[in-house]
Amino acid sequence: MVAVYPGSFDPITMGHIDIATRASALFEDVVLAVVKNPSKTSLLSLENRLDFVRGSVEHLKNVRVESFEGLTVQLVKQYNANIIIRGLRAVSDFEYEFAMSQMNKRLCPGVETIFMMADLEYQFISSSMLNEVARLGGSIEGLAPQNVVNHFKLLHA
Ligand code: ADP
Repeated sequence: MVAVYPGSFDPITMGHIDIATRASALFEDVVLAVVKNPSKTSLLSLENRLDFVRGSVEHLKNVRVESFEGLTVQLVKQYNANIIIRGLRAVSDFEYEFAMSQMNKRLCPGVETIFMMADLEYQFISSSMLNEVARLGGSIEGLAPQNVVNHFKLLHA
């Protein structure tokens, strides 16, 4: 079975990597899809976001990294997938994710969204918070992959 894992990955965090790793153990193929123009304005360029994702999941042999624009259900059809993977943190993600999964089912009745609970260790990590902390010079070591950590370190070098 092919699953797509869409997101803005602005930037990819250890929370995202944990979900991608667990999904790769469950499905034959996982398409980690980086959305080109997220509804929220992205802080990093698409090129940077893709580079960081590629560099941090290359050891997961059945995970391919693509970029996409448009509806997630179109991506699902393009890759002949029927599963959308999303991660769920504490209570903060629930309402939005619930609504989106209902909409996706309506747009594409065969599609199933599978939610994976965020690891306790990564429960409070969000891309936006890491961005904010890193831009202000705080350490994000251990919360994001090394390529992302290095990128922000250079900004403050
Ligand atoms: P989007 O902009 O589509 O919400 P994100 O890049 O913020 O994309 O996140 C992609 C997916 O990963 C979402 O399902 C989100 O809930 C999930 N996610 C984000 N941070 C974490 C985390 N720390 N642990 C587990 N899942 C996460």
